[in-house]
Amino acid sequence: MKWLQNFMRGRYGVDQFGNFLLGLYLAIAVLSVLLRYNILFLLSLFVLIYCWFRILSRNTYKRSSENTRYLQKTYKLRMWISNKKKKFKDRKVYRYFTCPNCKQTLRVPKGKGAITITCPKCKTKFDKRT
Ligand SMILES: [Zn+2]
Repeated sequence: MKWLQNFMRGRYGVDQFGNFLLGLYLAIAVLSVLLRYNILFLLSLFVLIYCWFRILSRNTYKRSSENTRYLQKTYKLRMWISNKKKKFKDRKVYRYFTCPNCKQTLRVPKGKGAITITCPKCKTKFDKRT
C-alpha cells in the first residue's frame, strides 16, 4: 500500500462534504436505475467525478473551505437529525416536552407518574404524566 500512500501525499482526501457527495451519487444512481432515466445516471457520474476530483485535489485550502461552507449550510439540518437520533435512543429512559411558554425542549425521566415540571429557562410550571 506504499504506492497508495505516495500517490495520496499532498492530496485532499475525503471529508464530510465528500461523504455527502458519495451518498448523493449513490442515491441518484439508484434512482436512475429504478426510474430508467439515463440523464440521472449521467448526473450521478458527474457527482462521482466531482467527488473524486475533490479527493485527489492538491488544492487542499480551497477544498477545506468548500467543506466548511457545506458544514455551515447544513448545520441546522445536522443538529435536527442528531437531536432526533438522540431522542430515539433515549425514548425508554426519558420523555420530551415542549415548554408551553417559551417552546424550550425539556427532558424528563420516564415513569415518575404525574409531575409538575418547571422550565429552567422561563420558570413556567406545568403538569405532565411521564
Ligand atoms: Zn419555558
